[in-house]
Amino acid sequence: MVTHHATNDTHYRGRFAPSPTGPLHFGSLVSALASYLDAKKHHGQWIVRLEDVDGSRCKTQYAEQILHTLHSYGLVSDELIRVQSQHSDQYEQYLLLLKKRHAVFACNCTRQSLADYHGQHPHVCHSTTDLAHSWRLHTSGQAYCCEDAIQGELLFENDLASNAPVLKRKDGYFSYQLAVVVDDHLQQITHLVRGADLIDTTAQQLYLYDLFGWQAPEMCHIPLITNHTGDKISKQNHAKAIQNGHLPTLLRALHYLRIDFSPGDEQANSIESALTYAIRHWQPSRLKGIKDLPLEQQDLHFL
Ligand SMILES: [Zn+2]
Repeated sequence: MVTHHATNDTHYRGRFAPSPTGPLHFGSLVSALASYLDAKKHHGQWIVRLEDVDGSRCKTQYAEQILHTLHSYGLVSDELIRVQSQHSDQYEQYLLLLKKRHAVFACNCTRQSLADYHGQHPHVCHSTTDLAHSWRLHTSGQAYCCEDAIQGELLFENDLASNAPVLKRKDGYFSYQLAVVVDDHLQQITHLVRGADLIDTTAQQLYLYDLFGWQAPEMCHIPLITNHTGDKISKQNHAKAIQNGHLPTLLRALHYLRIDFSPGDEQANSIESALTYAIRHWQPSRLKGIKDLPLEQQDLHFL
């Protein structure tokens, strides 16, 4: 069992890493705010990264739109924005390192040939690099454990044994899993504050950290904003783009993060003063034990 310990002695560096597959919606604003408030509460740096590694789904117009919306809510990156699609050469280098260590294997399998395994890839196949192939990570029975500021102790037992995740696709695009670990390492990210939908990806990421011999960041997964059917609100289920710089939207987003203002409160008069107040009052522990955050009646217009 590998336990990942807290790194309190490092200077806090957090990030928000949206994929530009659509404009920013209410759920993504809540995630962005949580990572921002946590970084600022710790007097740390908050960095925006564009996760456009999947070039088949991402669009430049959305990237610009997302950055503009974040800016309008006072959420400005402390450093130059890293754009993943400009760093393929770095992901290639780290993949090469894994190839040298025999940690990955080539795979020609198709969706059809994996149908019997429900799309999972539970074993090493006998594929050739002469044909179109992806690169998959060897499975591991290693268990991982980390302490999450909201979710408590997260234990991943044999999580990787049932699937060999793709690190580079047949079409040449690198996977989120490889890019996110390499980027968080290169950008010296110390804390991840992100949506609970990403808990499932954590075990593979901890395994990659181990393979590279890197220290994994501290983790904090916030509950998800959900719709009336209990699904995460997302671009896939038509969450609307939020208005830019709209104070009532910001106050509602902070409400879901358990930061509320009293009626007539001066702190709630501008985006700037609301953010300052929110940084002071942000306490991730208030979200402990909450599975998800269903949209309240008055906020259903965000769908
Ligand atoms: Zn295969």
